[in-house]
Amino acid sequence: METKSFECPRCDGVLKEGKLHAIDAHLCPQCKGILVPQRDLRRLLDKMAEEMSKTLSLDDTIEAIPDRGGGVSCPLCGQTMDNYGYMGCNQVKIDSCFRCSAVWLDAQELGIMACLYARTKHHQETAAKAAEARSAPIVDVAIVTQAAERAVLQGWSVGRLL
Ligand SMILES: [Zn+2]
Ligand SMILES: [Zn+2]
Repeated sequence: METKSFECPRCDGVLKEGKLHAIDAHLCPQCKGILVPQRDLRRLLDKMAEEMSKTLSLDDTIEAIPDRGGGVSCPLCGQTMDNYGYMGCNQVKIDSCFRCSAVWLDAQELGIMACLYARTKHHQETAAKAAEARSAPIVDVAIVTQAAERAVLQGWSVGRLL
């Protein structure tokens, strides 16, 4: 099978094909952005959330990250991707290509999403805590990002990528 190389839509990096927690993904070694199939996104977040919940306090409030803007071209087909808020909120805006059913996530976005996901799960398990979370301290985005990068590295199965 021929391996095509795809350019990163955010920087001049070339995407590397590999598996992230057993999910087919394209990752940019430079900006750490990741392209994943939309159908696998939940499974990926599930795995990452599990990893991150070991190192993060899930009761903390997550700060919205600055949106890097839409208009991302799909690395696979060149189509301009749709930019929308993940889980109906505007904390994370993700980009997806309806043609390829692929989602582009900037490095920070994946981390915040996994954190939001972990927190939602956590709150479902302990519903009573949901109200308290509003006054909880704000998580440092850098900490979330570090935890996300660790989770990415641990799940990534192509050797010596980053
Ligand atoms: Zn890049
Ligand atoms: Zn596409």
